[in-house]
Amino acid sequence: MNRIVVKVGTNILTTANRELDLNNLRQLTHQMAQVAQSTEYELVLVSSGAIICGRQVLNITCQSIPEKQAAASVGQPLLLKEYSLFFNQQGFHVGQILLTQDGLENPERKAHALDTIQTLLAKKVIPIINENDSVATDEIQFGDNDQLACQVAQLIQADLLILLSDIDGVYTQPPSTNSDAELISTLKELSPELLTTLSSTSIGPGTGGIKSKVIAAEKAAKSGIRTVIANGRSSSIILDIIQNKPVGTTFLPS
Ligand code: GLU
Repeated sequence: MNRIVVKVGTNILTTANRELDLNNLRQLTHQMAQVAQSTEYELVLVSSGAIICGRQVLNITCQSIPEKQAAASVGQPLLLKEYSLFFNQQGFHVGQILLTQDGLENPERKAHALDTIQTLLAKKVIPIINENDSVATDEIQFGDNDQLACQVAQLIQADLLILLSDIDGVYTQPPSTNSDAELISTLKELSPELLTTLSSTSIGPGTGGIKSKVIAAEKAAKSGIRTVIANGRSSSIILDIIQNKPVGTTFLPS
């Protein structure tokens, strides 16, 4: 059995009007259901999008951390409602798990989280994980759940971690300002030069940017998990990655 963690970032769940992008949520859910239907795979979803949902309902700009936390508190059930609806249509139930980094560092809580995820997987329920934004702000401040996705992948000893955002992968230069920037298909080591270049690459409304993704991807790869950063707006991206098609940037496990 292959365990796959898919991380869906804020950028690919947000429309140009800064509302929840239900079309993309539907197409991603459809792909994930196809994977989970196979007896070969178990799939865990780490999804952002709570803040963007709550922001829309409360009609606030979310400038401060408490405002983001409040928006997440309102938005999380709405986000899960949409996931639940789309996964139900594909024959799946979903289970919500809200985690924090310090909780995952506590051996007892970590064991409980693992037990819950494994039990859900055994029952073919899709675990949907987010940071517990009411009590923690790690991923709101930096990361947009990239680090959390890495921790979850390590916890369940995943074979594959897919970090989806609205960029095709890691480029040699920021692609928005350099027409000769090239997509890096495979990465083993992150050089300090590349990290410096990536610091100036910003993408969308999420808080992570490409830098937080490559840090999370490198960490996961170093613990033996093949990790791919790819564009979650491409309609067959999850299936393409599973079929080893040359998409995104792959961090090879070491
Ligand atoms: N947990 C946050 C959410 O669901 C992550 C998004 C962010 O950090 O911007 O919205």
